[in-house]
Amino acid sequence: MRILIVDDEPAMHDSYRRSFAGRHTQRGDGLEAMADELFGDVGRAAPDAAPDATLQESGDASRDVALNASGSPAADEGYPDFALTHCDQGLDAVATVETALAEGAPFAVAFIDVRMPPGIDGRETARRIRAIDPEINFVIVTGYSEFSPAEINRVAGPADKIFYIAKPFEVAEVLQTATALGKRWEVDRELATTRDLLAAKVALLEEQGAELAANESRALHLATHDSLTDAPNRLAFLRALAERTRDAGLFATVMIDLDRFKLVNDTLGHLAGDALIREICAILNRSTPADAMVARLGGDEFGILFDTSGEDAAVMACDRIIAACSVSLQVFGNSVQGGASAGLVVTEGGQGSDPIDVMRRSDLALNDAKRGGRGIVRLFDESMDEGIRFRRRVEGGLGRAIANGELSLVYQPIVSRDAIEVVGFEALVRWNTTQYGAMSPATFVPIAEESNLIHELGDWVLGEALAVLKQWPGQYVSVNFSPRQFRRHNFVGHIMESVQRAGVEPTRLQIEITETAIFDDAERAAETLYKLRQMGFRIALDDFGTGYSSLYNIRKFALDCLKIDKSFIDGMARERESAAIVHSIIHLGRALGLGVIAEGVETEAQVQALRLAGASHMQGYFFSRPVDAKAARAIARSRDLVGRDDVSTDGPNVGQRVGRGLELRR
Ligand code: C2E
Ligand code: CA
Ligand code: CA
Repeated sequence: MRILIVDDEPAMHDSYRRSFAGRHTQRGDGLEAMADELFGDVGRAAPDAAPDATLQESGDASRDVALNASGSPAADEGYPDFALTHCDQGLDAVATVETALAEGAPFAVAFIDVRMPPGIDGRETARRIRAIDPEINFVIVTGYSEFSPAEINRVAGPADKIFYIAKPFEVAEVLQTATALGKRWEVDRELATTRDLLAAKVALLEEQGAELAANESRALHLATHDSLTDAPNRLAFLRALAERTRDAGLFATVMIDLDRFKLVNDTLGHLAGDALIREICAILNRSTPADAMVARLGGDEFGILFDTSGEDAAVMACDRIIAACSVSLQVFGNSVQGGASAGLVVTEGGQGSDPIDVMRRSDLALNDAKRGGRGIVRLFDESMDEGIRFRRRVEGGLGRAIANGELSLVYQPIVSRDAIEVVGFEALVRWNTTQYGAMSPATFVPIAEESNLIHELGDWVLGEALAVLKQWPGQYVSVNFSPRQFRRHNFVGHIMESVQRAGVEPTRLQIEITETAIFDDAERAAETLYKLRQMGFRIALDDFGTGYSSLYNIRKFALDCLKIDKSFIDGMARERESAAIVHSIIHLGRALGLGVIAEGVETEAQVQALRLAGASHMQGYFFSRPVDAKAARAIARSRDLVGRDDVSTDGPNVGQRVGRGLELRR
């Protein structure tokens, strides 16, 4: 550790040497330096000098002496190795510090005398040194108080790097001060190095972070923007639309299609087409309401999204947009007549509308606008939507169907594993419409489900099934209930009342519900099922495997049986997965003490496989198609399917199927 002594009195230098080493070093210390030069380290006795004694070339005015702590009195007490450099004058000291810094071997502490005639005084020396070395610690040695500490601190601060000792000083005092300050100086330097390192790392990290962020936002921009116009693309538009549908308030979704784009593309080329697209995009951005989003959905189609106060205001905004597009544009020196059509739908946000459906509706409006000619704005109305029209017709028709006696029920036998006994029938609704002929319940039940009609329909089905059931000797009837029926207020009471009115035991009614019905509100469903079962009703979980219930979760529900969906039965022979699913459902059912009905069984091979797998019951065309009430009564009375090949049914070939069921038994 390097110590600088600055004092004009030779005697003082001796005092310092004694303080640090307890041995005499004189001004003639140059002798030792010479010896070093001549003989090197080996030429000297080890205890006399540290290896770094020669590290510092002595200048004319300064002399360096390394004091190897070993052998010195200080060594045993854990003092550091000090290397002293002596200067007689302030200016020499400044030059010495400068050299030391340049060589990368700075001083830790400088002891500076205050009065050093004829040169600059201690305060000025400290000031100049401080100017070049911000780290060095000063010990100002004062004979009498020439300067106040405050004055020196001001020019050579900071104050915590300046100390004072008075002359004459004690040997121990100097050594102690140098040690304490030297240690602190070292720690400070280490800290500074660490801080610099950290700062460099932080800077690097910040740089990398900024680069990453820039890359990410570039990537995000690319993914959500159209490269030709830099407008948001379809993905961004759909996202914005999805977000907008969640918030309350009216908004307009507009689809814009350019009127003569194909012509421009075909006659002037694709580059001209591109230029036209860019031009129109700019016009759209200028002519839309503030805060509107203009997106290029692809080709010559644009989407615009904006908040509006109502349909009239939205139509007016669209009229302005279309008018702005109807201008003559210069494209590559050619004059092109711009023009666009718009389809518009105004939606109330926060009502759970489906953004895809909103898009579809404005698209339907756009098609209508294009059919009507060029430069037209069309507001969506439901008559444009064939799907909606159909739905409205079905809804209206179904309402009348019940009153007009257009509905009927057919019954499909559910047979025990060995196909010997018909244990029950699933009731399936049929509607012979005046307009469309026989319509599948897969079509009209979901439409009824979307309106309150489902309750009316369900009540009719239940009443009819319970009435027919009374003609059977003991079989149960399995009735389908849609999720909405199941969640109806006081469902349990309603069912109970129905069976009581019909004079039927609850044990003869099986309630078929789907996973969706129970898992949407599992807790309430579990309670409802528990109550129903307490009262003696049978519960079947329909279409099992197609929903999202985990096999594990169904434990919670009071059930009698699982119906394995037809899709798995179909797949059994072809895919290992289906076969595995069928097997595990059967296992699970057994483990939980539930019956397992395999539905949609069509072939003998399926029957054999299902028997092997352990299904308790089966249902399907192989045994019988759904049959009318009269045929069901006949089957029920004979308790099996033997000889029932004359029954009238809901589809073709039933006689043959029943016959096959019969064959199977032999
Ligand atoms: P589901 O409950 O899964 O009924 C089974 C469907 O598969 C019935 O179609 C039945 O005729 C048909 N099926 C039976 N065995 C076979 C077979 O071996 N092969 C083939 N390919 N199909 C077979 P359906 O009668 O058209 O009923 C369709 C769906 O309509 C039913 O599916 C049920 O979800 C619903 N549904 C029918 N009637 C009612 C009802 O009264 N109320 C309610 N809420 N829904 C009903
Ligand atoms: Ca069913
Ligand atoms: Ca089913």
